[in-house]
Amino acid sequence: MRVAVIGAGVAGLVTALELAKRGIAVDVFERSAALGEQACSWAAGGMLAPWCERESAEEAVVTLGRQALDWWPRHYAGTLAQGTLVLAPARDAGELTRFAARTSGFARLDAEGVAALEPDLAGRFRQGLFFAQEAHLDPRRAMAALVEALQAAGVPFHYGVEADETELDADRIIDCRGLTARDRLGALRGVRGEMLVLRTDEIRLSRPVRLLHPRIPLYVVPRSDGHFMIGATMIESDDRRRVSARSAIELLSAAYALHPAFGEAEIVELRADVRPAFPDNLPGIVEDGRTLRVNGLFRHGFLLSPALAGQVADRLLASRELPDAHHRQRRHA
Ligand SMILES: Cc1cc2nc3c(=O)[nH]c(=O)nc-3n(C[C@H](O)[C@H](O)[C@H](O)COP(=O)(O)OP(=O)(O)OC[C@H]3O[C@@H](n4cnc5c(N)ncnc54)[C@H](O)[C@@H]3O)c2cc1C
Repeated sequence: MRVAVIGAGVAGLVTALELAKRGIAVDVFERSAALGEQACSWAAGGMLAPWCERESAEEAVVTLGRQALDWWPRHYAGTLAQGTLVLAPARDAGELTRFAARTSGFARLDAEGVAALEPDLAGRFRQGLFFAQEAHLDPRRAMAALVEALQAAGVPFHYGVEADETELDADRIIDCRGLTARDRLGALRGVRGEMLVLRTDEIRLSRPVRLLHPRIPLYVVPRSDGHFMIGATMIESDDRRRVSARSAIELLSAAYALHPAFGEAEIVELRADVRPAFPDNLPGIVEDGRTLRVNGLFRHGFLLSPALAGQVADRLLASRELPDAHHRQRRHA
């Protein structure tokens, strides 16, 4: 069986690797000339946070998302299992109570507990929640590591190819085109997300920190060399234009509220992209002739791709075994 994966975002890369590991011959087609140029995955925070996400997501996100905490460290050595810290300013303490009521898998922290985990936040927050089992990664480095692993496994990459599934010479096609797949998946919609990257040596964090706020919840994901990803807006729109001044102001003010050192940081990057989502905000695998469409990863591309990729591989292997089984039956009849 020869399989063509269309799209080298996180869904396509994780699926291709899972298929290659199970002995299936795969080719990857990506319309951009270079990794990430047109992928929503390039804008992601890289949080692997199933328990925190439960605050606004279905239980399935926790069940499927837990698989990512096992999958990523095995495929990307830079995965950091440091947990997630959730905080709220004293005036928004009610937000922390609300968040705790909707989630599980956390320990409650007092001011000393917060300071012990993140010394640079000492004295700034009276209480917090610590989700110890969660992890994070740098999406761009993780994707590059997957490409390396795929190339080492002999998987051909075809960059700069706008693939048309009707013309591909393959037994099965895995459509991982993200929001572009709306031409075949009418229910798919876009949810705009804006982020920025700051750089400063004035503050160090060891793990993603979520700052709750009734209007502007924010998270800060530490990356290497003093870089911090600050995210993210959630706007019901498929507008991919650049970050608005209003969103930038809101994200920057929230970062400043977490720690004033962010006020002196350099702005390294502002980026907007659009998350592909189905109406229930859960991902899906849609069978359509010889094509399987993997989509609707919404806020959870890095979190849920490993579980979906496993399901795709199971389905392909099961469909490959069927003709053989029939053949055997006929032989014995
Ligand atoms: C600001 C922000 C923060 C986020 N943070 C997180 C997070 O912390 N954790 C998490 O798990 N998720 C996060 N997400 C969500 C995550 O980024 C998405 O769920 C994920 O990127 C969707 O991946 P995808 O592979 O389906 O789509 P994409 O990443 O968009 O990939 C699709 C690829 O298909 C290619 N393509 C399209 N058409 C063709 C064609 N015809 N031929 C060849 N190639 C084609 C595109 O060029 C692209 O490379 C975040 C998203 C945003 C916007």
